[in-house]
Amino acid sequence: MFDTPPTSRLEDPVELGAETCGFDPGWLAALINGEVRLDRDMAMRILETVPLFTLGRWADARCRVLHGNRVRTYVIDRNINYTNICTAHCTFCAFRRDGDDDDAYTLSREQISAKIAELEAIGGTQILMQGGMNPELPLSWYEDLLSGIKAEFPRIHIHAFSPPEFIEFVRFFDPPGDDLEAKLLYVFERLRKAGLDSLPGGGGEIFALPVRRKIGLGKCTAQEWLTVMRVAHRMGMYTSATMMFGHIEGRADRVHHMDLVRTWQDRSIADFARSGGGRYKAFISWPFQRENTPLGRLPEWEAAGGAPFPGDVVAAGGHSDRFGKVVRMAGASEYLRTQALSRLYLDNVYSIGASWVTMGPHIGQVALHFGASDMGSVMMEENVVSAAGTTYCLTEALICRLIRNAGFLPAQRDNVYNLLRVHDSDESPDTRITDWSEQRARKLAVESKHASSAPVEVTVSAGSQEVVAD
Ligand code: SF4
Repeated sequence: MFDTPPTSRLEDPVELGAETCGFDPGWLAALINGEVRLDRDMAMRILETVPLFTLGRWADARCRVLHGNRVRTYVIDRNINYTNICTAHCTFCAFRRDGDDDDAYTLSREQISAKIAELEAIGGTQILMQGGMNPELPLSWYEDLLSGIKAEFPRIHIHAFSPPEFIEFVRFFDPPGDDLEAKLLYVFERLRKAGLDSLPGGGGEIFALPVRRKIGLGKCTAQEWLTVMRVAHRMGMYTSATMMFGHIEGRADRVHHMDLVRTWQDRSIADFARSGGGRYKAFISWPFQRENTPLGRLPEWEAAGGAPFPGDVVAAGGHSDRFGKVVRMAGASEYLRTQALSRLYLDNVYSIGASWVTMGPHIGQVALHFGASDMGSVMMEENVVSAAGTTYCLTEALICRLIRNAGFLPAQRDNVYNLLRVHDSDESPDTRITDWSEQRARKLAVESKHASSAPVEVTVSAGSQEVVAD
């Protein structure tokens, strides 16, 4: 099912505590070895009943079967949010602006080039370029942007434009074609010819319709999102899938979301693998960040009195007047549980990414023992999540130190998870550092029209524990 075979087998599941939690040890061993699949009922049972650290050990065992005990990866790329003008009104978003807002922006080619030059200077290999859905930009703007980047930076992999942007491209550009797939194919072919290499999985949020209707106003449906990715896979592209949880959704919605990713991945592999097709290479999930967002102003759900969370009621097929009117925020343990389940459920997705950008570097480090095999990217710049209050940022040395101190060898990877450098010497980005006090303060760049051509530098408070990797 994977493009790289498992590296080992779990032979003795006794220490994983299956029986204590009411599960058959033989079944657990088969699950961890990829010989049986979780169904949605069993996934819910695991999510709701298995203790946190036991669940972590199961996901870690599965991760070790797939990726071995030695190496965990990261990538050096740069998020470039080329515009914050957007026709959608997602209630969890603090980034979007209307075209006539004072701080609306669209980056110029020169600004984007300057950012990529900075990325290349630190050994970066790819850009992750996403924006709002800006109706003023014609298809030729994107083609010129991509071909210009490829001409100037031929070695940089362009990982760009999430499915919601592609759906808006179809609406804005009205391409030829009898159905959505044909129209998408036309846009894909134009952008790929111009230099697009692969697609990020932004805009997945939660696929369940009742949730999506309430939080993703003006954004594509789950069917549309998954169709964009299917076309990308048909074109031979490797993509990722994401999930943003910890708001109004029920836990069953998270399992339903993972199930759709797994089902559509099966189809892509069955339909396109033999002809050089792509697939989802990674799954990354993170909790909703509430600052500066309309959704974040909703009151928090109080479990006192034993009333079930309204999202759980609706996800189970019921009705609740309070659905969408309260949020159930996810903390570290809920994040780790959900990520661990994703490692167990998504048996056909190669990598699970830790989400330290939202959870902080140290929870990201712990996530390497809860099923994650990848720490994602160093963070030179991020504008979307940071607009909602998250400002963590890590250098390559810090990310390597986090991985090494979690018990693994850090390795830089490329977009398709080929290892570029395994850091097993004294000259590694972290081992050559003698004074870590210099690594404590980092800055996160946030775009602003008021900054003329340069991004505003926002200083993360010096001494912040989150940027000291131990
Ligand atoms: S999340 Fe993306 S699509 Fe939704 S409003 Fe924000 S920028 Fe627009």
